[in-house]
Amino acid sequence: MSERKTHVIVGAGMAGAKAAEALRAEGFEGRIVLIGAEQERPYERPPLSKDYLRGEVDREKVYVHPQSFYVDHDIELRPATRVQAIDRRAQEVVLRGRERLPFDRLLLATGAEPRRLVVDGADLEGIHYLRDLADANALRAAFLHSRRLVVIGGGWIGAEVAASARQLGLEVTIVEPAEVMLERALGRELGGFYGELHRANGVDVRTGAMPVRLEGDGRVAAVRLQDGGRVECDLVLVGIGVLPRTALAEAAGVLVENGVVATRGLETSVPGIFAAGDVASAQHPFYNRRVRVEHWANALNQPAVAAQSMLGKPASYDRLPYFFSDQYDVGMEFVGDPTGSDELVFRGDLAQREFIAFWLSHGRVIAGMNVNVWDVVDDVRALITSRAGVDCEALRDSDIPLPQLVSEAAPAA
Ligand code: NAP
Repeated sequence: MSERKTHVIVGAGMAGAKAAEALRAEGFEGRIVLIGAEQERPYERPPLSKDYLRGEVDREKVYVHPQSFYVDHDIELRPATRVQAIDRRAQEVVLRGRERLPFDRLLLATGAEPRRLVVDGADLEGIHYLRDLADANALRAAFLHSRRLVVIGGGWIGAEVAASARQLGLEVTIVEPAEVMLERALGRELGGFYGELHRANGVDVRTGAMPVRLEGDGRVAAVRLQDGGRVECDLVLVGIGVLPRTALAEAAGVLVENGVVATRGLETSVPGIFAAGDVASAQHPFYNRRVRVEHWANALNQPAVAAQSMLGKPASYDRLPYFFSDQYDVGMEFVGDPTGSDELVFRGDLAQREFIAFWLSHGRVIAGMNVNVWDVVDDVRALITSRAGVDCEALRDSDIPLPQLVSEAAPAA
């Protein structure tokens, strides 16, 4: 009987593709089956709200790997295939038509899906979500014959789509219930910074505004707000957050708590089943608690650790959360977790949109965001991981190079 092992990856997004790549890179010679519900081979999502949405890059540019990669590495990519269930006792995934696929190790890389807006009129024509490539194609096509876009939700999708739509010449209104856009991610002051950036670029940013109804005769024509206000439009984009896709895991008896619960090595509560990407709520060695990150870099980097664990090698995912965003002429990178911050310190010039913001807790840097300032992420990361107290005056002073602060902050060896 053959000894050849089979490792199955459910979810052919960035995390799934990177896991398949990593299994081969780690020397696994058995069978790899990469199953995805979409018709597409794995692609990257960041361009879908940015240059791809604006029609500035070709479709071929968004894919994680060329088609030949899967053939060359003997990875069985099965697109347009939905996993119906996981039979953990038999160690099999159940596909449509009752086909059963045995596995030795299973990786859940099922990602997340958009929260739906539940209001009257939510099923009118002209209401879009943006999660996958098909959504981006549909939104791009709608841009070409629309004039007035309302973006519901001033989060990352809302902010990036609003910027792209303005760049294409649409009139844009953002409707966001919080006091400032991006408040949950960045807090008042930096959420306010992004609000001002959008206003300066001609967006009507309505904060403290709750959409209660979408109006129109067949096709959306306006968004009604709780305060009675009405915003006319011919296109709506809803970006009100995502929910981790945990149904398969839950039905299989895998522990789920705001995502699939995983160890620092990304193994779930069921031995032999692993999780990575948006869906994984993994124990984080630096934070000493579980962390679930809904950003590209996590889907890019976690799978290498998952693959090592799947092959029985000791591994631990300890990277700090990181993401980036490009809006108009403002690029930024963010590293760390600002939860629990008690102080915000700026280095540089907010008005010139060229600065680094540091979130501190008890005198220690816990997160940083560089805006139109580059090549500083490693230093910011080092300040965070040092856990050392920093001198706020020195942090503010752009004349003191960051690496100097890092070496002063470094804990004694
Ligand atoms: P998000 O960043 O979590 O933002 C959702 C926004 O919608 C929040 O501002 C939220 O306000 C608001 N909201 C919630 N319910 C609402 C309602 N009923 N009406 C109007 N607004 C409502 O989620 P997203 O923008 O949909 O993005 C989806 C996922 O993709 C996220 O995980 C995000 O991190 C990721 N993404 C990342 C990037 C990047 O890294 N550059 C870019 C695009 C997308 P409250 O916070 O006040 O609830």
